[in-house]
Amino acid sequence: MPEISSLHIYNSLTRKKEVFAPLNPPFVGLYVCGPTVYSDVHLGNVRSFLTFDVVYRYLTYLGYNVRYVRNITDVGHLLDDSDEGEDKIEKRARLEKIEPMEIVQKYTNGFHSTVNQFNLIPPSIEPTATGHILEQIEMIQRIISNGYGYEINGSVYFDVKKYAEKHNYGELSGRKLDELLEQTREELAGGDEKRFFADFAIWKKASDDTIMKWDSPWGIGVPGWHLECSVMSTKYLGQEFDIHGGGMDLKFPHHECEIAQSIGADGISPVKYWMHGNMLTVNGTKMSKSLGNSFLPEELISGDHPLLEKGYSPMTVRFFFLQANYKSTVDFSNEALQAAEKGLKRLMDAIKKLDEIVSSESSSIDVDSLIKKCTKSMNDDFNTPVTIAHLFDGVKLINSIHHFQEINKKDQKKLRDHYHTFVFDILGLKEENIETSNDELPNELMELIINLRNQSKENKDWGTADLIRDELKKLNISIKDNKDSSTWNYEE
Ligand code: ZN
Repeated sequence: MPEISSLHIYNSLTRKKEVFAPLNPPFVGLYVCGPTVYSDVHLGNVRSFLTFDVVYRYLTYLGYNVRYVRNITDVGHLLDDSDEGEDKIEKRARLEKIEPMEIVQKYTNGFHSTVNQFNLIPPSIEPTATGHILEQIEMIQRIISNGYGYEINGSVYFDVKKYAEKHNYGELSGRKLDELLEQTREELAGGDEKRFFADFAIWKKASDDTIMKWDSPWGIGVPGWHLECSVMSTKYLGQEFDIHGGGMDLKFPHHECEIAQSIGADGISPVKYWMHGNMLTVNGTKMSKSLGNSFLPEELISGDHPLLEKGYSPMTVRFFFLQANYKSTVDFSNEALQAAEKGLKRLMDAIKKLDEIVSSESSSIDVDSLIKKCTKSMNDDFNTPVTIAHLFDGVKLINSIHHFQEINKKDQKKLRDHYHTFVFDILGLKEENIETSNDELPNELMELIINLRNQSKENKDWGTADLIRDELKKLNISIKDNKDSSTWNYEE
């Protein structure tokens, strides 16, 4: 049984590493902000979701019963993450001339197939914003009745000024209201219906041409983006839950507003441990669409991008991400990816070797200490790079068996179990030889079919033999019978 008590998590709220003590063990509530499904998921998002995939896997390994909620934002996320402008999904729908819900479906499907390629475990619940409009209206009502929200022209705003009288708005992001005021003073020049510059919309009046809109006590409108996460986390994990995760870019305003909304509505700070994953850079500069140095997961896999020397498999990329601490930036370069590709192969080869080595009577490998080290590093705020370094120390030992080291049957099994648990179950890596086997697969399948046909002929089952030949002909594959063998040919 692993040492359950010693997991430490870096809490972005207290800015300290804390002993993980869930509110209702063995139950753990984990909420992660999911994608806004208006375009293809980008690689930075994949890294962020991967971080929490490992958190989920490790908590499960420790024996916790984790309810993992990751939402789909399918309405309410406005351009520039602000209170103004068009809904991102509606804008895309107008551009592609299809229904907003077709956009939602298309990019939700795309998101699922991408995260599946990277071997992410699906969440326990994947709720949508449009599926929780009633609950969002109810939360707005609670916020208003507690005096933290006000209605103006059919929109409802969260009253940050009022909230800041008693509570610390900015406690998560470290931003101070007066500093924020300096930053936004210029933007304030234009007319704004909000009472205070930092107030944010929790319900936004819909214009006539808005497609996705709902009736509410304040008229026809749309819920504010930050509200859905407060509502769905409360509904499925309770007013107070264990871990809330997301990318660093969500800390402000999104997560800061989530805290304010929950305290405003229910008087409770919702999250015990806030976790934030860091960003991606490319050759030392920030990855961004406008700089032309961003790529989509498919481009990375196919290698079809000016910055890439070749394609890299999803598991190489997964391994590459895990070689960095989730709180550090990761820098993409061809050299680093190629090194990760080699490293992953060495690791997988060693795991295969573990099944093949012949055990001896005695054992000179200290398997327990290796297991302890890996558990200790994972317990240290999910430190995957150090864990991988320990696993490579083990690879050296595995490769030296028969030369300098001996291992008995019991230790061999223990070591094999350890590698399978840590590499496959916790780090979520898996064998992949899709590329090479795919090249060979058609040949192997044809060989199989030809053998079956030859067998039919030997059994004098001419009907089946002819059927196989005729059906293949329909697929433009011709079979030529030679004296004692058959060859095949595909004509385009
Ligand atoms: Zn969120």
